[in-house]
Amino acid sequence: MNTYKNLRNLLTIVLMSVSMLVVAQTKPNVVILATGGTIAGAAASGTQSGYTSGQVTIDAMVNAVPGITNLATIKGEQISNVGSQDMSFEIMLKLAKRINELAAAKACQGVVITHGTDTMEETAYFLNLVVKTDMPVVLVGSMRPSTAVSADGPLNLYNAVAVAADPNAKGRGVLLVMNDWIHSAQTLTKVSTTAVQTFMSPIRGLIGTSAYGTNDFYRYPDQKFGTKSEFSVDGATKLPRVDIIYADVDMPADLIDASVERGAKGIVIAGVGNGNMPKVALDACARASKKGVVVVRSTRVATGTVGRNVECNDDELGLVASFNLNPQKSRVLLSVALLKPRKLDEVQKIFMNY
Ligand code: ASP
Repeated sequence: MNTYKNLRNLLTIVLMSVSMLVVAQTKPNVVILATGGTIAGAAASGTQSGYTSGQVTIDAMVNAVPGITNLATIKGEQISNVGSQDMSFEIMLKLAKRINELAAAKACQGVVITHGTDTMEETAYFLNLVVKTDMPVVLVGSMRPSTAVSADGPLNLYNAVAVAADPNAKGRGVLLVMNDWIHSAQTLTKVSTTAVQTFMSPIRGLIGTSAYGTNDFYRYPDQKFGTKSEFSVDGATKLPRVDIIYADVDMPADLIDASVERGAKGIVIAGVGNGNMPKVALDACARASKKGVVVVRSTRVATGTVGRNVECNDDELGLVASFNLNPQKSRVLLSVALLKPRKLDEVQKIFMNY
């Protein structure tokens, strides 16, 4: 009788181990690349507004999210630990290279990048242009540090892993998941300095939503990205200098000349309205263009497109219109595009397609 019982117990243990193994094996692999930001920030108390970004390691962040390891087998890598005001093209190149390596090795089904919110749109858009994979690449951050009352980081991270692990997120380009919303890298922009609902996707709208790990997808991005993008940063160690110059009433046009003198290969004007600027500034832009500097007219206005030849003659002045891109994303696109010499009409097409 005892031998029978022992055998039955042994069989139960074996069956349980096998089923646990099967579950473990069927869980998707997600790699978290940590860069810092408020999501890894810490303050002395839960209600203090001052804090330091990039204090907490990726392992500590994952351990603070109950249930996250049920969604995926997670591996964390620390790429940097900075507030995103200190994000650089050097770190972005490192991120792109690592994602391309993981994709080429088929090492995971999705990647999550923890990042500060200040420049998240630049990194997201940069990666959207240069990573060569259809697997989900999801940026996530938080507006409150990890030590705050009602910290938003843990649930954001949970949802980001749920999106990265979801086969339905494939082929939608680089995404950002925060406060239940899934944005495309192409559309998202930061709109509030402190509110938890800080990211918006004006005009084109959300890619979907993610609530407690349940995802709902609405659309695929219509611009070019990822495997369909013509851009590559293989072998690149730095990007050409592109400056952003802000337009306003009576702006000094000599800032544009100074930028050319300092060796900028491109200039983005954060124009008023439909990418406009005073006549003296337009003249300075035309001078820059004649010297081979690519000048893009974007806008300081929060939504809307900047069209060609609307209130100034781009054809005559030798300028490029940014269409959907705000100044900071225009700078990213122009920097990547100018990794090789290009004609003005080619740059214009790039701005219409990405
Ligand atoms: N300054 C912080 C950063 O961008 C703000 C944040 O993460 O929300 O790293």
